[in-house]
Formats: sequence, C-alpha cells, structure tokens
Amino acid sequence: MMFLLKTRREREAVIVQKMIKMYCVALHGTHAVLCKECESLSKYAEKRLLLCMYGEIKPVCKHCPVHCYSPVMREQMRQMMRWAGPRMIFRNPFFAVLHIINNLTSAKQKKESASKLNPGK
Ligand SMILES: [Zn+2]
Repeated sequence: MMFLLKTRREREAVIVQKMIKMYCVALHGTHAVLCKECESLSKYAEKRLLLCMYGEIKPVCKHCPVHCYSPVMREQMRQMMRWAGPRMIFRNPFFAVLHIINNLTSAKQKKESASKLNPGK
C-alpha cells in the first residue's frame, strides 16, 4: 500500500502513524482510536513532516540543522520509536524504518544528555 504513495514524506508519515497505532494498542490498551497522548503525538509528527522546510529534498533529520521537534515531543517520539522500531522492521521495508529511527535518535539527543552530565559548561 505505502509503495503507492508518491513521496518519501508521505511514506514516512504512513510508517510513523502505523508505529504510533501499534504502540498505543499494545501499551495503552486502545483499539480503534488512539489515546489522547498518542493522538497528539501522531498529529504533531504528521504536521512536522508536512511542514518540513526542506520539502522533498529533506535530509536525514539527524543531519538537519533545523531541529523542529520540541523537546517534549521529541522525547515522546523517541520512546515510541524505541518500542515500535524493532517490531516494525519485521513488517516493513528496512531502510524506510531505519531512516525514521535515525531521524529521531539524533546527534542532538547525545549533546543534550552530555550537557546534563556537565551542568554549567
Ligand atoms: Zn496511546
């Protein structure tokens, strides 16, 4: 199904939505409808992808100079990815998934936790 989608962004959006659904069903016990938290995460992720200023030449977000996720959403997304990522790889094209996981476990995350370890620097 997702191979019919035209652009990489559309495919990414579909994969992210699937992962959030999987995550919410398994961890939050929901069925047809996402819980509030996952619903807003899903909307947020979709919006960020569609509004990405780089459009179809979007680089891997890891290497992108614009870190457009807010820290709270980034953390939520990271947790969701950590759970859903490995499960998703068995069902979907490996590279697409890998790309998205790379996006959200970015170099900036390491920098942030490093600065927490060295407060004041
Ligand atoms: Zn949920």
